[in-house]
Amino acid sequence: MRVLILGGTKDAREIASAIAAEPRFDVTLSLAGRTRAPAAQPVPVRVGGFGGVEGLSAHLEAHEIGALIDATHPFAVRISANAVAAASRACVPLASFVRPAWEERAGDRWLRVADAASAASALGHAPKRVFLAMGRLELAAFAAASQHRYIARMIEEPGEVPLPPNIHFVFARPPFTEEDERKFLLDHAIGVVVSKHSGGSDTYGKIAAARSLGLPVVMIERPEKPRGRELASAAEAVHWLTTLER
Ligand code: NAP
Repeated sequence: MRVLILGGTKDAREIASAIAAEPRFDVTLSLAGRTRAPAAQPVPVRVGGFGGVEGLSAHLEAHEIGALIDATHPFAVRISANAVAAASRACVPLASFVRPAWEERAGDRWLRVADAASAASALGHAPKRVFLAMGRLELAAFAAASQHRYIARMIEEPGEVPLPPNIHFVFARPPFTEEDERKFLLDHAIGVVVSKHSGGSDTYGKIAAARSLGLPVVMIERPEKPRGRELASAAEAVHWLTTLER
């Protein structure tokens, strides 16, 4: 059976590895092409947008895909909506990996907001040193709060995107442990962290580190994503494919 995984996350990489371990599945991973030098992947990769719902459903049909797995990032809403519509149009079963949300714990100082623009205004009037833990496309929203000094961590140069005036980049590739994050927050004298509520364990280190240092976190809540059959692990993905074969 041919399986297409919509990726761009470590979750997708792990799901791809688990499925590829079963030789009866022929797996391809799809990346949007945002990162110029993406991490190595355990299965064949195709790169670039499909061209909306129509393009994705045509791809599913042309490549005789027997199952589609959406393992994109919790904030990548458009591709997930396209996956639901395209899978339905091409009559291909769809399952979606749903990352567990983070729970607020004793000692956490979260301020929950709906989007990057609200995060920028939640930082307040007094100038602060702010760690922006997010992608380059969200940085523009912080130009509206130019009194702050921003420290943004990126995998690579952000390219030609609008930026707040007072921003410093640190280039590094995840994963980062809680200890790495504590050091980062201390080294850069961070006063407040802005994070997307991505969930899962891989990017939780900065949240735990902020708690241990008593720092506030402006938490951008995750959007509702359209989804197919819900998957909670790579093992569940393999099991789901097995049920489709019967
Ligand atoms: P998005 O807004 O949901 O999607 C925008 C467009 O990008 C889609 O309509 C699609 O183009 C294309 N696309 C997205 N994911 C794709 C994939 N896996 N394979 C092929 N095309 C894809 O997505 P986004 O928020 O820009 O995220 C882009 C990618 O980065 C996703 O793969 C996501 O998993 C990853 N990522 C996102 C975030 C985040 O915070 N948003 C964080 C980490 C990783 P067409 O309509 O032309 O098909």
